[in-house]
Amino acid sequence: MNYQKILEEITTQTNHLQEKGKIASYIPELAKVSRDSFGISLHFLRGDHYWIGDADKRFSIQSIAKVFSLSMAIGLLGEKIFQRVGVEPSGTAFNSLLQLDYERGIPRNPFINAGALVIMDILFSELKHPKQALLDFVRKLSGNSDIDFNQAVVTSEKSQGFRNTALANLLKSHRNLNNEVEEILDFYFHLCSIEMSCNELSHTFLGFANHGKIPGSDEQILSTSQTKRLNALMQTCGFYDEAGEFSFTVGLPGKSGVGGGIVAVYPEKFSISVWSPELNEKGNSIRGMKTLELFTTKSKLSVF
Ligand code: GLU
Repeated sequence: MNYQKILEEITTQTNHLQEKGKIASYIPELAKVSRDSFGISLHFLRGDHYWIGDADKRFSIQSIAKVFSLSMAIGLLGEKIFQRVGVEPSGTAFNSLLQLDYERGIPRNPFINAGALVIMDILFSELKHPKQALLDFVRKLSGNSDIDFNQAVVTSEKSQGFRNTALANLLKSHRNLNNEVEEILDFYFHLCSIEMSCNELSHTFLGFANHGKIPGSDEQILSTSQTKRLNALMQTCGFYDEAGEFSFTVGLPGKSGVGGGIVAVYPEKFSISVWSPELNEKGNSIRGMKTLELFTTKSKLSVF
């Protein structure tokens, strides 16, 4: 199969989807990104790599980073984290307050904002230097020592973080946040501000396609069983209130972010990432979703 040619075809076939969506301007710093940015990167576990467009350009990975924080928490504490956060799709917006209150402060899953805040709280209690430990973890997983937070994005998000502040306070009122609200928000905004390129993302996620083992090293980040659970959560909860649509059209476990990035894995085979900043009303990249749908259709590589 000529994968480079497939990526080229997809680029042409999705070009008309530019200017069909909105950039996530609720975080002012993200609105500065050029709306026609577009990149794809495909890494196979066996070693070959294909990419196109802006695949080398770093962008704000936002909620994609929630896969890293969840992996860290599962790796440190195992199953017991699921006493404080569920494993069901939410069926509501990623930053919804209503469901959280109704369900007495137990977030539906670790990928909606409330769930990610609980995971950050768990990590904050567990780690001596939480931000540095998080960066070290991502750097190890990616094999790249200059992955970093973007302080301008942290500041920008803090200045407009009213809903996340409300979620953290609601969690606290339900006694599902042990540390101070400000500390956890600061840690969470740092997580969301991590920047990576498509090439770096698909390379990093190969570990999740490889039963939790970093390819080419002896480093086991998660056990096979923990990796199965992580991928299952990506499959069922990785796309806000559109995880069903993503499963239906693409058919791979994955995670999106409001920076316009999406990364998906096919266990034991490959990892693919795409970046296009314009989002649909659910918060997923329009061109990114279509790109992955075309990729699994043309390559016949989907888990279903
Ligand atoms: N930092 C963003 C927020 O909390 C993350 C959103 C996302 O990518 O889903 O609103």
